[in-house]
Amino acid sequence: MRVVFIGPPGAGKGTQAALVAQRYGIAHLSTGDMLRAARDAKTEIGKLADQYMSAGQLVPDDIILKIVQQRLQADDCRAGYLLDGFPRTLAQAEALDAMLAHQGTPLDSVLELRVPEEELFRRLSGRGRSDDNPQVIRQRLVAYRQQTEPLLDYYHRRGLLKTIDGLGSVEEIFHRIQQVLDPLLEPPRQQSSEVPR
Ligand code: AMP
Repeated sequence: MRVVFIGPPGAGKGTQAALVAQRYGIAHLSTGDMLRAARDAKTEIGKLADQYMSAGQLVPDDIILKIVQQRLQADDCRAGYLLDGFPRTLAQAEALDAMLAHQGTPLDSVLELRVPEEELFRRLSGRGRSDDNPQVIRQRLVAYRQQTEPLLDYYHRRGLLKTIDGLGSVEEIFHRIQQVLDPLLEPPRQQSSEVPR
């Protein structure tokens, strides 16, 4: 199962992604986590990415694509994966499509986790991450609206988009997600004419 999670910062993508990965036995790939690990390890990519992250801006596509391309080759991605926080721009989405088409492994579903902006601000202000101060939060929400929201239309046109109400308890939201993903597990029904007698 190959799934993309889209949602603004503070929508609860990380929490839900971890639950989804566990239930469906797929890898949880968070580009934010990968970048923070690179930053903490003080690699060249990490240092470069930090300049954008600490300003609430998106890291340039070429850096992100290199990281994701490499990560998708790992063994644990063979059973499927959930992309959390990627793609975030149209260029990233197109590059991902091309990559997956080339491998013959297209996406199965794109989930949008939708939460009203006032609620996002409230949640992010209480989180205490270094990019969670009010000015940076505002910039991250702007980046989402301007650069990531156009992906909703992109995936809607491809018939992949499902919107999930992101308000409620962790359990309630996870239940809504399962209602979308569980049917993807069912094996295709045999045509009646193919049923052996
Ligand atoms: P996240 O943990 O997903 O909220 O990501 C934290 C920060 O990492 C973002 O504010 C961006 O600066 C950067 N980032 C993560 N994923 C991407 C991506 N797909 N494209 C560009 N920047 C990203």
